Amino acid sequence: MAGIRKAAVIGAGTMGAAIAAQFANAGIPVVLLDIVPEGAKSRSALATGAIAKMLKTEPAPFMSKRAAKLVTPGNVEDDLGQITDCDWVVEAIIERLDLKQALYRKLDAVRRPGTAISSNTSTIPLARLTEGLPDSFKRDFLITHFFNPPRYMRLLEIVTGPETDPELLAKISAFADISLGKSVVRAKDSPGFIANRLGVFWLQTGVIEAIDAGLTVEEADAVMSKPAGIPKTGVFGLIDLVGLDLMPHISASLAATLAPGDAYHAANRDLPLIKTMIEKGLIGRKGKGGFYRRGKTGREAIDLATGEYRPLQKANLPELAERDLRALLAGPGKAARYCWRVLGQTLSYAAALVPEAAEDVSAIDEAMRLGYNWRFGPFELIDKLGAGWLAGRLAADGFPVPALLKLAGEKPFYRLQGTEREFLTVDGGYQKFTRPEGVLLLEDIKRSQRPVLKNASASVWDIGDGVLCFEYTSKSNSLDQPNLELLAKTIDLISQGHKALVIYNEGENFSAGANLGLGLFAANIAAWGEIEKLVVLGQQVYKKLKYAPFPSVAAPFGMALGGGCEILLHASAVQAHAETYTGLVECGVGLVPAWGGCTEMLARWAANKAMPRGPMPAPAKVFETVSVATVSKSAAQAKEHLFLRETDGITMNRSRLLADAKAKALSLVENYTPPAPPQYQLPGESGRVAFKLAAEDFRRKGIATEYDMVVTGELASVLSGGPVDILDRPTEQDILGLERAAFMRLIKRGGTLARIETMLTTGKPLRN
Ligand code: NAD
Repeated sequence: MAGIRKAAVIGAGTMGAAIAAQFANAGIPVVLLDIVPEGAKSRSALATGAIAKMLKTEPAPFMSKRAAKLVTPGNVEDDLGQITDCDWVVEAIIERLDLKQALYRKLDAVRRPGTAISSNTSTIPLARLTEGLPDSFKRDFLITHFFNPPRYMRLLEIVTGPETDPELLAKISAFADISLGKSVVRAKDSPGFIANRLGVFWLQTGVIEAIDAGLTVEEADAVMSKPAGIPKTGVFGLIDLVGLDLMPHISASLAATLAPGDAYHAANRDLPLIKTMIEKGLIGRKGKGGFYRRGKTGREAIDLATGEYRPLQKANLPELAERDLRALLAGPGKAARYCWRVLGQTLSYAAALVPEAAEDVSAIDEAMRLGYNWRFGPFELIDKLGAGWLAGRLAADGFPVPALLKLAGEKPFYRLQGTEREFLTVDGGYQKFTRPEGVLLLEDIKRSQRPVLKNASASVWDIGDGVLCFEYTSKSNSLDQPNLELLAKTIDLISQGHKALVIYNEGENFSAGANLGLGLFAANIAAWGEIEKLVVLGQQVYKKLKYAPFPSVAAPFGMALGGGCEILLHASAVQAHAETYTGLVECGVGLVPAWGGCTEMLARWAANKAMPRGPMPAPAKVFETVSVATVSKSAAQAKEHLFLRETDGITMNRSRLLADAKAKALSLVENYTPPAPPQYQLPGESGRVAFKLAAEDFRRKGIATEYDMVVTGELASVLSGGPVDILDRPTEQDILGLERAAFMRLIKRGGTLARIETMLTTGKPLRN
């Protein structure tokens, strides 16, 4: 069965437009249709307007402007014929059964047999959606439930009916996984599927219990977050984020469709406060504020008893110092009681959902990890507490104990058999996890291996077929002397008998760049010699990587900043996760890129075919990018800035990054020759003056600060090539020397140290 070559999305609202954007991000042409608005000049105004709006939305639904061109707007009256050559049509119109069904009939009349039709419904069961439709339609129909925002939320719940064609399901699942980058979780055709049903239960229980216990929203969120590995938005912060107005829709639908005995009904209490907040438009971040808001005098939170705003009060709960979750839940204080009542009921509800809403516990865990960014799924949390302990405590407090918890008894939901991870099934046995083909994770490799090399801030793993994987293990994967030294050692080791290197890790971000804390410490004690040694070490190791006799592939994801971007510039190739945010941000902390960032960017822009020839255009382009610390907002955008090459690969699904990077590395092995050192032609003094004038213009317009003038002046001294003549041909080493000298002059200045200190303490740049 062929894959998806063209798609259509019907309904250009919040979800439909952004789902269309994700198809476009995957490089798939997509038709976006909506109704013809009454009295509008353009019949496709809704879809056209949605695309235009998305180009201005932050966080951006599109990964690049180029992607936006793949979306063709239209309307359902004139353009339905366009779906004839589509392989997949996603319906994302308003949540009304009659309208959805009427649309399906129209779609069925024009679609090719075999074109998949799916609904993005949050609440309507598949059985109802397909009622009365022909069997041929039912065969090609499924629910694909994306989460908002579809580009950034990894979870995709898929629901099929008894008639859904298994081959069609396999095709859609594979495309959603590999091309759209989603993690597919199979859900049963039960109300609210998995993530909404359990998530809304958790949120509603969190609100009710906080009100009953007299906790402030700050206290409740402090409890219902870090201690259980839940994001710091907790319950109230998360409701503000998704919008309080969405909750009544989902809860009304759940209340109407769930069996009378379902524990959900107890969590669905009418709360006057919530009703009033919605009436007043206090629906969260997209409204006039929510449980939290930014008031005239600073951040405020709502008083749950009076509904009035008051200044934010930081939660003061010494009980939360307890690191062990079970010990915390067993504590006597109000925080412990709240934590127990919310988590206890939520974990119990999770257990009640298997097998009704999900085939097994791993689907529920995956849905909560990806749908809510929980660090641990509910069953992983139960394992921390002990299923037996949880069942005992639930019974002691008068809560029912779900069958699955009784079945588990003292057994864990997850166990290791040798190096294999297994989960408990509903028949009381254990089932092995199998990773889909093309998914390779260090997490799995680490269970069966010891590192080939290791020190305090990096490890090296053998990922098979002659490829070694270099992993940062320092805080924020920052770069320091130990991991630079280990990289040098790894390069020597590979030269003696391995084939290739992959630079990759499974932290939150690829790398935050050089360890600024250590830099600041050294600068404060004027250890200039030490600092310069580290600059030289970085330059040497990165060039050693670039000219190594074997191919290297860097596999970034999330942030890859400063020195973390420079390593990408020196690898033979990059295989980047689509969500890679990379750039040379050194100027933001009062420095210049000095581990070869300037040398590499100069060479890349000079070799770029679109650039006019001559000594000035390339340095001007690098100056423009680096002086304002440009960070690309996607891997696609990183290509526009030349942080990545056109030939570098992009992986949409984070779990497939390592396997793709390894494959890329192996593809480069045969006849590999390291690159030849680039030839430079730089403008010298006249270029430096031109950059200075440009910076002065920014200063006059109030865009550049006083200290920016110092920093960009130093950057200009590097990019212009220093005191060279246009006829000179400076070498890579010459420019590395300029990088180093400029870096060392800047690190000794108060303005730079103030910037570093502010970055370290607030995480934000200082505009001095
Ligand atoms: P929305 O109100 O933002 O957009 C719905 C769009 O559908 C509107 O542009 C409307 O003009 C259009 N429309 C209505 N009837 C139509 C028809 N007959 N033909 C073509 N277009 C029509 O809604 P949304 O939030 O994008 O939700 C869309 C679907 O996705 C719903 O089924 C909803 O339950 C589901 N969903 C929403 C979210 C969310 O967070 N908003 C999350 C997951 C799923």
